[in-house]
Amino acid sequence: MTAKKLRVLAVGAHPDDLEFQVGGTLAKYAERGHTVVMAVVTNGNVGSSTLPSDEIAAIRFQEATTAAAMIGAELLWLDYDDEFFFYNEESRRRLIDVMRQAEPDVVLAHWTDDYHPDHSLSGQAVRDARIMTAVPNIVTAHPPLKTIPKLFFYDTLAGINFQPEVYVDISGTFATKQAMLAAHVSQSAWIEDIFEGSSIGGMMETQSRFRGFQAGYRYAEGFRALQTWPRAADFGLLPLD
Ligand SMILES: [Zn+2]
Repeated sequence: MTAKKLRVLAVGAHPDDLEFQVGGTLAKYAERGHTVVMAVVTNGNVGSSTLPSDEIAAIRFQEATTAAAMIGAELLWLDYDDEFFFYNEESRRRLIDVMRQAEPDVVLAHWTDDYHPDHSLSGQAVRDARIMTAVPNIVTAHPPLKTIPKLFFYDTLAGINFQPEVYVDISGTFATKQAMLAAHVSQSAWIEDIFEGSSIGGMMETQSRFRGFQAGYRYAEGFRALQTWPRAADFGLLPLD
């Protein structure tokens, strides 16, 4: 990949989405000295069967902070209500501003047709905000970017509706990815409650192994480039080697 030191912004809808889908890739970027910013759109405030919203949101913020610290990533917490991220003028402006704050060369976003509306809509919002980050007459708290960042979409839950174009070998960082996801202790209990005994770590390992199997690696994460103009994708911005 490029020798230049990159700024990488990954945007996930919920605390734990980034660890689950791109934790290995982010760890690989960080290992190579690139700067990683993890932006979490919603605060996870419905993610408990027993705790009230404000308490579980506070716990999830701490868990996300712990996970990000494992790779030295900066955490941006957007604090929208879990399950109620809507794509509108306010959220578009917010995403433009968040991307300006992170000043990324590369942005990793949810695929726009995933199982959860917070995933799909935040993916759309990031996709659409990308060029606007460099438009000076759109005024937000942070100054406009000088260069429009490149965008890659990451995998859906269970890989449904998503055919990767490129795979990042995460065999060397898979243990870090596991540890980052395991920092989301409250989510393990919640996922087991609502999805009848599913283990979030097991789900993640299955998917990482499956993408690895497709690619010829032990573990992998899959990505697609943005398919709109200008389509030329610089896959060298991903840590492929
Ligand atoms: Zn999610």
